[in-house]
Amino acid sequence: MDTFEDTARRLREAFSSGRTQPAAFRVAQLEGLSRFLQENRQLLQDALAQDLHKSAFESEISEITISQGEVDLALRNLRAWMKDQKVPKNLATQLDSAFIRKEPFGLVLIIAPWNYPLNLTLVPLVGAIAAGNCVVLKPSEISKSIEKILAEVLPRYLDQSCFAVALGGPEETARLLEHRFDYIFFTGSPHVGKIVMTAAAKHLTPVTLELGGKNPCYVDDNCDPQTVANRLAWFRYFNTGQTCVAPDYVLCSPDMQERLLPALQNAITRFYGDDPQNSPNLGRIINQKHFKRLQELLNCGRVAIGGQSDESNLYIALDLLSSDLNSGGPECGLSPHMLFLKGRTWTPDSQILGAGVLGAPTVLVDVQETDKVMQEEIFGPILPLMTVRSLDEAINFINHREKPLALYAFSNNSQVIKQVLARTSSGGFCGNDGFMHMTLASLPFGGVGASGMGSYHGKFSFDTFSHHRACLLRSPGMEKINELRYPPYSSRNLRV
Ligand code: NAD
Repeated sequence: MDTFEDTARRLREAFSSGRTQPAAFRVAQLEGLSRFLQENRQLLQDALAQDLHKSAFESEISEITISQGEVDLALRNLRAWMKDQKVPKNLATQLDSAFIRKEPFGLVLIIAPWNYPLNLTLVPLVGAIAAGNCVVLKPSEISKSIEKILAEVLPRYLDQSCFAVALGGPEETARLLEHRFDYIFFTGSPHVGKIVMTAAAKHLTPVTLELGGKNPCYVDDNCDPQTVANRLAWFRYFNTGQTCVAPDYVLCSPDMQERLLPALQNAITRFYGDDPQNSPNLGRIINQKHFKRLQELLNCGRVAIGGQSDESNLYIALDLLSSDLNSGGPECGLSPHMLFLKGRTWTPDSQILGAGVLGAPTVLVDVQETDKVMQEEIFGPILPLMTVRSLDEAINFINHREKPLALYAFSNNSQVIKQVLARTSSGGFCGNDGFMHMTLASLPFGGVGASGMGSYHGKFSFDTFSHHRACLLRSPGMEKINELRYPPYSSRNLRV
């Protein structure tokens, strides 16, 4: 059986042979990736529905199209990105050639999470291929259906001597991390980010860490509450809130809170109907562990909207309960990917694998700073509102916490938006909307401080996966000028 040592040796040999260097090779791999996305569109949509109950629309815009867009951009710009970059020279190097060469690192490890399991695996892969690296991909073991496709279908579209997929959870990934890589690109929680960075330090391997955290959203009094609520609700409940850049909590005045609540209720009803549980547009919490974690957060403050976490009407993965399905009867209803059991009682030992547990779009009020919901990243369909008396208080609140991955501010007054931007720090910032800034490949995407280090998307991905080599090519002639710098030193040298 092929061990990881064998795989690593094979990939390193391929890299040393120079195979990944020519633009033609990189183009062929990127075209392979493009074909993978096009020929397996339905398969990917079905897998995302199985893993997260994602609607076709959400799968398309947040996973498939975004990955395809990155491939297309790289294909269009690859040769320009690969070109040596000329730099300004000083007096002593006027006759020389000075430039930055973008070199591949070598063997790269990409570790991905489960919440956008395709996007967060393929988008970094595009950058690593474009930059000419060999890659080991480690998808999340939790989003099982996508993991299977990445392991079994994707390799058919790539040169397997240069690209491999490693499978497994924490234990297997920890073993993988004992090996030496030339670059590690990790997306996931800050906790595991520290484990990855510690392992990388042993080999002095550079890392990019794309982490999570709590993204604040300031809502000024000078806003149309319905417009804010529409945008907030869409971004908070997109992918059932399991989005690293989702607004994690809102800071606003008590007056704005009063106006925002009915507007949020209105938006939620319009998006997901009176019975969100049966909405085809609402995804599911990934698994029981996260469901239990989120359920606990509902004990913080007061539930103003939603809050249902139904234990007697659970959505459970179809394949686990085929016996219930076969028995049919009035207690069973079937949706394409889920078995909906009416009137059944959930017990802690009920086995729930894959997508299966409902979480209603929820808004909490009266939460305290010390509540758990304000201490940890929510990563689910819960939005706490906290009241502040002023913009200054909101900014102080934000600045007393770890730097977030994203920060949002809503106001009709552009000065307010500019103040929030100028007086805070975060990985990214968007005024008057949710995470639209990360849809622009012309902007770097990444965190700062506890929300991560490094960035990617578009050309930033190419640069992240390239070593920027400082090159100066001098003339072998003109030795007379060099004489001025050699010892024995005298006042003559100072004139150089
Ligand atoms: P996670 O950190 O638990 O897992 C991420 C990856 O690390 C997975 O492939 C997993 O197999 C591996 N892993 C888990 N535990 C490990 C261990 N002990 N040792 C070695 N490897 C281990 O994260 P998750 O639950 O998959 O994703 C949710 C987190 O990711 C959230 O914090 C979210 O904010 C963050 N996230 C960040 C971004 C971003 O772009 N900044 C994007 C998506 C998610």
